[in-house]
Amino acid sequence: MAKSETQLLAERAGESAIASFGSRTDVGCVRQQNEDSLIVAPPLFVVADGMGGHAAGEVASEIAVKTISELVSTHADAEELGRAVEQANRDIITAAVEGEGREGMGTTCTAAILEGTRLVIAQVGDSRAYLLHDKKLSQLTRDHSLMANMIEAGQITPEEARVHPSRSVITRALGNDPETIPDLYEINVEDGDRLLLCSDGLTSMLEDAEIQAVMNRISDPQMCADVLVDGALAAGGLDNVTVVIANVEGDRKQARRTISVRTRLTALILLLLLVLCIGGAAWGGSAYLHHTAYLAQSEQGTVAVYRGVPGSVLGFRYSELVESTEIPVGELSQSAAESIRSEKGMRVSSVEEALALVDTYRAEIEEKKAKEQSRSSSASSARSQSSANGEDYEKDLTYDEGEEELDAYAEDDEAYSEEESDAAGTSGSGSAESEGRTR
Ligand code: CA
Repeated sequence: MAKSETQLLAERAGESAIASFGSRTDVGCVRQQNEDSLIVAPPLFVVADGMGGHAAGEVASEIAVKTISELVSTHADAEELGRAVEQANRDIITAAVEGEGREGMGTTCTAAILEGTRLVIAQVGDSRAYLLHDKKLSQLTRDHSLMANMIEAGQITPEEARVHPSRSVITRALGNDPETIPDLYEINVEDGDRLLLCSDGLTSMLEDAEIQAVMNRISDPQMCADVLVDGALAAGGLDNVTVVIANVEGDRKQARRTISVRTRLTALILLLLLVLCIGGAAWGGSAYLHHTAYLAQSEQGTVAVYRGVPGSVLGFRYSELVESTEIPVGELSQSAAESIRSEKGMRVSSVEEALALVDTYRAEIEEKKAKEQSRSSSASSARSQSSANGEDYEKDLTYDEGEEELDAYAEDDEAYSEEESDAAGTSGSGSAESEGRTR
């Protein structure tokens, strides 16, 4: 499948570069396919949230990330990035005409190039870019959505927008109008800042304050992306969710210096380990081993925190149990559980980080339990009464049962509207049919 190709590319990029970024995409808890696409090919990072139903949304978002990654150079040039997004728009329209995907398919696109401390972004739709600076999270991009228009006009509050029936209506997307242009942003960022790109599957499930707390708490970018996605899933996972985290690491000279220091350190550690194995003199190696940590599954099937490294090195074992928790591995997200159960366990950079992660898992499980409890009680109350809250829940139930979310164009304002397109039914310029997910 085309999507896995993109993900592979993202993973390859991740392996070959310094670990200053992380990413994850997940189908969520109710959708049957993932229409989001992402690319992590530093200095380029793109998140695209496709729409149009089965075999269409994912085609549109895939074309967007592919075209952009082929066209941009490694320079943070906003105009060039903007032109690549415009070409992606034309490519999606052409693909639909030529029978690839479906007429009316579209996608959001949030593309960023982070070169040293210079950040440029090209934006269409309601996927977002945020910056964490001095521990404070700010939304960099402006959504092209009905809700953003209504909030700016003072008609509703952001809190009301979160539960508004038209919350998924977007007013600009790739795949509709060949003249569509992206909003461009050029920002000077600072060493230590963190960039977040995400689809609305994250921001509709987690409040900005929750996202900010996770980004402040978890320094490892991959772990941070995992915990954010897990958070969206724990909150219901009603939509596909995609997260890209990139740490700002100053200019390239500095990055190169970091690499060479790390290389020397790694060589030193290996030498020390060798000395340790041969002579038994262990102070240097043990300092490293004392610092590093991993999570593994205990005999009781719960999460256990170890100091050191799993397995053995030249017949020696360097691991020590720090804490055996009560958290069942089986209650974690699939990816976290797989990683913890694997032979190598889930490696983290320090015992402190491992314990912080355990706290996060514990909070997530408690939150999930609380939500399940409140859901089962609100489900029974929704059946017996039709309060406003009850009606909202009914809607979610419909969603759960697999009704297609379909973002097609509304007649007048060029907006995408799942509600209206459901009513519109069959084809015609700019609208699409909802049949895919029942197949
Ligand atoms: Ca979405």
